[in-house]
Amino acid sequence: MIIVKTAEQIRRMQLAGRITGEALLLAGEMVKEGVTTKQLDDKIRQHIEKSGAKPSFLGYGGFPGSACISINNEVIHGIPSKDRVLQEGDIVKIDVGAFIGGFHGDSANTFGVGRISPEAQKLIDVTKRSFELGVAAINVETGRVGDIGNAVDTYVRANGFSTVKKYVGHGIGTDLHEDPNIPNFGTAGRGARLCRGMVICIEPMVNMGGHEVNERPDHWTVVTKDGSLSAHYEHTVALTADGPVLLTKVD
Ligand code: MG
Ligand code: MG
Repeated sequence: MIIVKTAEQIRRMQLAGRITGEALLLAGEMVKEGVTTKQLDDKIRQHIEKSGAKPSFLGYGGFPGSACISINNEVIHGIPSKDRVLQEGDIVKIDVGAFIGGFHGDSANTFGVGRISPEAQKLIDVTKRSFELGVAAINVETGRVGDIGNAVDTYVRANGFSTVKKYVGHGIGTDLHEDPNIPNFGTAGRGARLCRGMVICIEPMVNMGGHEVNERPDHWTVVTKDGSLSAHYEHTVALTADGPVLLTKVD
């Protein structure tokens, strides 16, 4: 069931969104060679808690971290660890959620560690741009969910990369994951109707190689099946009378 939010509820979601965005920004500024993913996670947790919020992911389904931090061929749901040390040339995906005032925010970005390859930079750029095109495809009066995925996937494929099919974006509100699913592929004009008051997470996961993924034996970390690099970009997006508004964008 899709839970449509009132304008007042969306205003309240802006706080969760801002804290989420700030935590992601702070962690992104820390990214450099020699930093552990645990240190990034600690920074995120500290900022969220200092802001009076709770990390949405901590304990979610038993997840042990405050953020999901995934390196290179890891797609999503990487577990922060003091044993995971960032190396020059890595790309690191940080996915953050914060809960306050009864609502969640959810946002992710991919950062290069020091000097990264031109191919890796292209993957990061294409992933972010595909998100922007997905947002641009939203018509809050007459649109369908398939419009978003179609825009994302068309651009990603035109650049020679693949969108992950097994994991998708989602509605968000009092629950971290609400209806509808927001796939990063689809047919324009198909799928659930979009309308004012929906709040959704659009989050392209883009692989340099094939779209297939596996889960590691830790039952969390999702990796590309072919070992290729993967990038991720996400914002919490409110569909308002003025069009889409990115609640987690702070920079
Ligand atoms: Mg996320
Ligand atoms: Mg999400």
